[in-house]
Amino acid sequence: MPSATLPTLRIAIIGGGPGGLSSAIALSKLPNIEVTIYEQARELREIGAGIQIGFNCWKVLELLGAAEGVRGHVQESIVHRNGLNGTPLKEQSFVSVVPKYRGQRVRRTRLQAALKAKVPEGVIKLRKRLVSLENLGEEGSRLVLEDGEEVIADLVIGGDGIRSVVRQSIFPDHSIQFTGRTIWRVIIPKSLIVDIPEMTSSTAWWHGPAGHFYNCLVDDPSETPEDKQMFEIAVHNVVPAATVKEKRFSWGIPATNDRVEQHLTEYDPRVRDALSRVPEGLWKEFSAFAGPRLEKVTAWDKVVLIGDASHPLTGAFGSGAAFAMQDSWILAQAIDYTRSSRQPLAAALEIFDSIRSPYYQRMYEHLDSVGKSFQDAKAKNPGQTFEESLEVKIKGFGGTETLGWIYQNDIQKVWEDFLSAEKSL
Ligand SMILES: Cc1cc2nc3c(=O)[nH]c(=O)nc-3n(C[C@H](O)[C@H](O)[C@H](O)COP(=O)(O)OP(=O)(O)OC[C@H]3O[C@@H](n4cnc5c(N)ncnc54)[C@H](O)[C@@H]3O)c2cc1C
Repeated sequence: MPSATLPTLRIAIIGGGPGGLSSAIALSKLPNIEVTIYEQARELREIGAGIQIGFNCWKVLELLGAAEGVRGHVQESIVHRNGLNGTPLKEQSFVSVVPKYRGQRVRRTRLQAALKAKVPEGVIKLRKRLVSLENLGEEGSRLVLEDGEEVIADLVIGGDGIRSVVRQSIFPDHSIQFTGRTIWRVIIPKSLIVDIPEMTSSTAWWHGPAGHFYNCLVDDPSETPEDKQMFEIAVHNVVPAATVKEKRFSWGIPATNDRVEQHLTEYDPRVRDALSRVPEGLWKEFSAFAGPRLEKVTAWDKVVLIGDASHPLTGAFGSGAAFAMQDSWILAQAIDYTRSSRQPLAAALEIFDSIRSPYYQRMYEHLDSVGKSFQDAKAKNPGQTFEESLEVKIKGFGGTETLGWIYQNDIQKVWEDFLSAEKSL
């Protein structure tokens, strides 16, 4: 409800991904705030197959009021296999988890539709690509869009993903590079592979020497008839980045079946069989880019980065959509809290940074330590066999039990802890 005493805050959100949409939802609930999303695409569409929704994601979706429309395949367990012969190596069961927070694999379009449905009418502006951002001091920031429109905003939220123009504008020395990891993703009708043993019975990772094959269902059988249910495959291939000479694009370019299959010729026959049944023309290729951690995710006292823009790691924990939405929710709480005590916008950004930067720092540190343990194991045993390297990999594989601070992270509790700490000062 508008408040007569609070000045209007003009907020420009760049990007209509999970981060941008959830920011618009959370911020639109606050008084005297004008929110606009500037999205470069002609239409909001997701091209990335399925997405993992676990406890951390359900919690923030609930807070945003967008959990209801998100439904997919409930995962009872995940099986890790030797990809070359199919031997099961480890199984994680989720049956003990509170049912409504159980991990689900959902079509990305479902998540996007659920979020979009909660964004107030008229907030999203399509075909609006940000090309530059300028600090106008007390006047705010000037955004220049590709079509020539110029906008002045009090707060700019960079939700523009891994190749963020906002990040580039505020931290021009930061850059991202191809990591050597290529990911191909597809969703196909379940009916095409249902007769392949073990393929649809559980979510599985089939680990190979230079990557893995991942399979999962993505629909809720109680709402999607058997013949309409879809099946997701993701193939990862990792090579030393320096050996890659071709130009790489980060998000969703088409790939031929040959391009994918050439990396899995040694895999278990069930994997190769599944690959051979993917209709030509459906694979999409994603090149993983990453960049160093940012010391701060805010700048100029009026610009903030959220989601992939703030921690360029390209899906490293398979939970990036949750991180982006958590950022959005915390940002809205910080703005509400500081505005209600008449503090400047800079104070809200300071709070946001103090909560989220250390969290991202922990992720970077975790990835560094996993990388180091792989290198140490190799150095100790230079003649390491595939099976031995697999053992190290499976050990380092963080699930809910080892990475509780990620997958069990309750963002509401994080905010409550911040408030308690403030009170005790
Ligand atoms: C292969 C892969 C698998 C993944 N699997 C999972 C998973 O299972 N679970 C999970 O939670 N996460 C997963 N992730 C991560 C997740 O997809 C991202 O973390 C999440 O989409 C980040 O949301 P975002 O809103 O920050 O950015 P994005 O989703 O990248 O959205 C950015 C938006 O900004 C727009 N944009 C960009 N530049 C501009 C500009 N200059 N002007 C205007 N608009 C612009 C883009 O068009 C886009 O719509 C995965 C990622 C990859 C690559």
